Amino acid sequence: MAVPKKKTSKSRRNMRRAHHAISATAHCECPNCGEMKRPHHVCSHCGHYDGREVVKVAAA
Ligand SMILES: [Zn+2]
Repeated sequence: MAVPKKKTSKSRRNMRRAHHAISATAHCECPNCGEMKRPHHVCSHCGHYDGREVVKVAAA
């Protein structure tokens, strides 16, 4: 099994993790109900996608 020859320093470790930050998820307005939804996803509020109801959402 391959084993690292040297201990990874805190600096090296943190440099590697410099790219690990999570970015905010994309959101856009639902054209049917106006709620914020993820692009290219069925609206979780009204169940619409591409101008038609795809998923039945229970009325509150
Ligand atoms: Zn919607």
